[in-house]
Order: sequence, then structure tokens, then C-alpha cells
Amino acid sequence: EVLATRKQFVVIGLGRFGGSVCKELVKLGNEVLAIDRDDKKVNDYAKYTTHAVVGDSTDENLLRSLGIRNFENVVVAIGDNIQASILTTLLLKESGVKNVCVKAKNDYHHKVLEKIGADKIVHPENDMGRRIAQQMSDENVIDFIELSDKYSIVELLASMKLEGKTLVELNIRASFGITILAIKQGETIDISPSPQYKISNKDLLIVIGQNDDIKRFEDQVM
Ligand code: ADP
Repeated sequence: EVLATRKQFVVIGLGRFGGSVCKELVKLGNEVLAIDRDDKKVNDYAKYTTHAVVGDSTDENLLRSLGIRNFENVVVAIGDNIQASILTTLLLKESGVKNVCVKAKNDYHHKVLEKIGADKIVHPENDMGRRIAQQMSDENVIDFIELSDKYSIVELLASMKLEGKTLVELNIRASFGITILAIKQGETIDISPSPQYKISNKDLLIVIGQNDDIKRFEDQVM
């Protein structure tokens, strides 16, 4: 579990995305004020959140009465109503909320959100779709984090071909320019594997490097 200090958040919109943001924030030990105009949604989430309020987030008076400007982090998870999402974001930025994260529905929505000062804009469906496609098209890849367009951290499942090979033998850094950060065996993680470490089939290698180099390593060694 991630270590983080307890913070206060507002989540606006309790659809599938906002709802899951909400639950996870609470699970991580944060305080969450949830807002949705649908009282059924608010009732469903009342047990997960610190406070849950029925209301329309495009209503300036409501936001003021909730003391929205005192919150540093707000997530706008209004799904289909682009106009409400934009207006809400605008009101939040105008009242001085420092960090406003908004779920965008399309490129047009994204552009407008950028212009009015949204601090983080997310496209959860697109991102998840890409992740699933990348994972499915490469069976060695168990998980990955994109650091930039070029660099990633990738969790690779060691193949039979690597069984019994030591890290020094494979000479991965010199041959491929990538680094093995850690090796996972079941629940055990070795975060500084020795050069003499012998890889066994089913080990998970956590490597960092340029995507091209990681791909080359997979093609030639795995
Ligand atoms: P998802 O695709 O994440 O499931 P939805 O469109 O289903 O998104 O959910 C968006 C939520 O946002 C709904 O629960 C809806 O009631 C809520 N919502 C939409 N507009 C407003 C608004 N102006 N103020 C507060 N909540 C809103």
C-alpha cells in the first residue's frame, strides 16, 4: 500500500470513475467530500466518504457554502455533461482551488479544460484501453509504468530461456542499456539483486529503460 499523508479531497460526480476515485482515496486514509446531484448516488456513497452532499456543482452558492476554496484537491468526474464539467472546473479555478483534476470526454473537452486552467486532465477509458492492448499484445509484460513517450518501467515474466542464467552472464546493462531494478518471486522482492543472482523461470524482472531497448531485450533474450 502507498504511504501518503492524510489529505482532504472533494470528488464531484459519483459515476463509475468518480466512485472508484472516491473509494480509493478513503482506503488510502484521506478525507473525502463527495458531491453528486443524484441523491441515490450520494446515499450509495455516504458509507464510504467523510461527507456526501446532494447538489449541483455548477451552483456557485453551493460551492461557496461548502467552503470549496479551502480544499486543495478536487476531482471533477462528471461524465457526459461536458458543459457542467467545464463550468464546474471554471468555478473551482476561480475560487482558487490549487489542484483540479478533471475527467475529459473527448479532445474538444480536453482543449477547453486546458484553456480554463484544469491542472490535470484524464481520459480513463482511453488510457485503460491502451494499457490493456499493450499488455495483451505482449505476453511477457505483466505490468508497466510509462515514464514518458520513450521510457518505461516494465515487469517481465522470465522465460525458460533465462532459467539458471546469472545477471552478470546476461550483461543486460551493457548489451541493452536497460537496468534490472528488482526481481520478484511470488511475494518476495529483491530490490538489489546481486550480479550472481540466478534467474529462475517465473521470476518477474522489473526493468527500467527506453522502450526500444526493452523490446530488443525481450526479442533477443526472453
Ligand atoms: P462514469 O462514466 O464515470 O460512470 P457518469 O456520467 O455515469 O460517469 O457519472 C457522472 C456523475 O456525475 C453522475 O452520478 C451524475 O449524477 C453526476 N453529475 C453530473 N452533472 C453533475 C452536476 N452538475 N453536479 C453534480 N453532479 C453531477
